[in-house]
Amino acid sequence: MKGDRTNEMQNKTASARLRTLPSMDLLLGSERASAFFPLIGREAVKSILASALSSARADLLEGAMEEASLDAVLSRALPELERRSADSLIPVVNATGVVVHTNLGRSCLSNRAVEAVRSVAGRYSTLEFDLAEGRRGSRTDHVEWLIRRVTGAEAGLVVNNNAGAVLLALAALCRGREVVVSRGELVEIGGSFRIPEIMEFSGARLVEAGATNRTHLRDYERAITDRTAAVLKVHPSNFRMEGFVCSVPREDLAALAEQRGVIFIEDLGSGTLLDLSLHGLPGEPSVGECLRQGAHLVTFSGDKLLGGPQIGCAAGRRELVETLRSYPLNRALRVDKMTLAAFEATLRQYLRGEEGEIPVVSMLAAAEDDLERAAVSLLRLLEPVLPEGRFSLVRVEDAVGGGAFPGRMLPGWGVALSVEGWGSAGRLQSMLRRARPPVVSGARENEVVFHVRTLLPGDGELIAAALSSAAELAARPCSK
Ligand SMILES: *Cc1c(COP(=O)(O)O)cnc(C)c1O
Repeated sequence: MKGDRTNEMQNKTASARLRTLPSMDLLLGSERASAFFPLIGREAVKSILASALSSARADLLEGAMEEASLDAVLSRALPELERRSADSLIPVVNATGVVVHTNLGRSCLSNRAVEAVRSVAGRYSTLEFDLAEGRRGSRTDHVEWLIRRVTGAEAGLVVNNNAGAVLLALAALCRGREVVVSRGELVEIGGSFRIPEIMEFSGARLVEAGATNRTHLRDYERAITDRTAAVLKVHPSNFRMEGFVCSVPREDLAALAEQRGVIFIEDLGSGTLLDLSLHGLPGEPSVGECLRQGAHLVTFSGDKLLGGPQIGCAAGRRELVETLRSYPLNRALRVDKMTLAAFEATLRQYLRGEEGEIPVVSMLAAAEDDLERAAVSLLRLLEPVLPEGRFSLVRVEDAVGGGAFPGRMLPGWGVALSVEGWGSAGRLQSMLRRARPPVVSGARENEVVFHVRTLLPGDGELIAAALSSAAELAARPCSK
């Protein structure tokens, strides 16, 4: 009996507490809420307020809150209202030293590529229009010839991304038949691209050859039968094996494919068009080199080492590319006009020998002296912002990213800031991410590090601004 009475009392107080909840009309009528109407519309504001009301209601019921004032409910809704009112996909400063940073948008387009995007984005264009004939043209014609020129391929085709190019190649050329892949190359890339899954989805049957660490030519020889459509060589991307390892040279694989009458496809992943060994980065074959060494069809990304927009390219023998082009799946993977404009502009820069103007290329090719000088300038720029800050010039290890040159570190330079007085490196990094534009930095023990290799013109000033806003944030009494 006693228990029942206690329950009843609690229920009464709970309903009394609930009566303190402000009405939706009152909330919508408040200045703090209505300020968001022009940003996201009244209905969206209302739905965010409704969630705040229902979470306040739950707290009142539980007794976690005594009363819900108008201000209390509005404060609850405020973070979400602010978050939904601000643009979400925004530029950041990449001070991580990872050049092809997939989470930060991979490659930055060159100025020319950006200009090309701008020129077609808000206007009608020749996307599928043949000006000479005045009739329908093909959207991929804009880049086909350029791909041939820069890779030496007989033909080329572009789709949405490289995963799409691999899928299209396997579906169009190997569906219902077998594809031989080395066990050492059955990799997962970036968590979502797995060769065995792509293979299954394409309708081709995977046949594994060799062992994880070693695959010999005789393993491929044994795996090829009259059911085999192709041999697929996959760039192992971020994955690197060391020690007792062996893979088959491209030329030998090409000769075997030729002799047995099967297609030799190579998923190159990054797809550089240059000999990057000239910039101290040996070991990554260019697309042209793979084709010259006998690959029949090479697939690669546009936004990794190439430094262009997100695109997937398949280049190689004419009859293979034509089969891909006329395969229905191709239509589902087609590229939009802004991407094509950026890709055309980027390829033209390669054609003219102006690849040094492509950010990814210039960042990879940056000389250590130049990086050191850039770090010195950054240091001078930052020191006045935090006069009490402990900045120092440091040597850093940068990375190519994008799965190319796995394990290889690029010697670089940066500016380190001791986190003494900031709590921890993680805390300072999080405050820098809250600046607008946000700064994404590197860190090591008790230091936040700004790598200069991946900075673009003007980024030093932005880092200075982010640091001063972080300092303001840290000075606020109740900041988290
Ligand atoms: C990056 C990569 C892919 C996926 O390319 P996307 O352009 O991201 O679709 C496929 N294969 C390899 C070997 C890669 O490195």
